[in-house]
Amino acid sequence: MFSWLNKNSIPYLQSSGLAACDFLAHAFCTREGGVSEDDYQSLNMSFREGDEEFHVLQNWNKLAGAFGIPMENFLVLNQVHRDGILVIPPRGEYFTSREGLDYDAIVTNRTNLAICIKTADCAPIFVVDPENKVIAAVHAGWRGTAASISAKVVRLMQNQYGSRPSALLAAIGPSIGRCCYEVDEPAAAAFCSHKNAKAFLLPGKRKDRWMLDLAQANRGQLAESGIPDAGIDASGLCTVCRQDAFFSHRGSGGVTGRQINFLMLKGDPFCKALFVNEDFRQVH
Ligand SMILES: [Zn+2]
Repeated sequence: MFSWLNKNSIPYLQSSGLAACDFLAHAFCTREGGVSEDDYQSLNMSFREGDEEFHVLQNWNKLAGAFGIPMENFLVLNQVHRDGILVIPPRGEYFTSREGLDYDAIVTNRTNLAICIKTADCAPIFVVDPENKVIAAVHAGWRGTAASISAKVVRLMQNQYGSRPSALLAAIGPSIGRCCYEVDEPAAAAFCSHKNAKAFLLPGKRKDRWMLDLAQANRGQLAESGIPDAGIDASGLCTVCRQDAFFSHRGSGGVTGRQINFLMLKGDPFCKALFVNEDFRQVH
């Protein structure tokens, strides 16, 4: 179950399963609580969509202050709509430039590192191994979902960290819903090798169009990977239907901001988690 919460005037959602883990901090943020204007109103966390840089920087400051996490401890990927998974070791330097961040998922057991997924229709997905204290954040649009990125993340956690799928918890945040996600034939065809495609890809109203249920497709991958149904939480919220609360790429016609979704293993004491050589705005 997802709940609406508010921290220092920043509204956000939490999954009850993850919220019950005292070693975690997490939030699926909305578009509310920031200072950006017009198409980016208001908590736009992306420097790359045409918003005023000083507004985005203020938004990052507000988020960091509200959750008590230093701004440089948030890590955002480039999100290139493929299936690459960045594994971050518990200590040491792991990237020095923007080019090193062309991935769509992060897996780590590093504490104090808030791994982030920016969204405006794609599905943000978190996976947690409470036994080994390993966390994952996944960006799943249709391309990543067709490439089975959620299943690959679970497999990596099994292989590299010894995670037991039956002990994992997962949460699927707000994304474009089946109600609004019409895709064309090439996108639908990308799922031809998915044996349960009928569960998440339904005929559309128009010829050669399909309605894709991103959340259901990823839930299926997580379940087939061995995560029990009770361990998989989903918000059930559609970003297109709920543009009052969320940025939506399709709903806006293309010019809009990005909400942030983050997951972190709490550590003590709070140390600098990143080694960033560049200006902050170039890595967010
Ligand atoms: Zn909808």
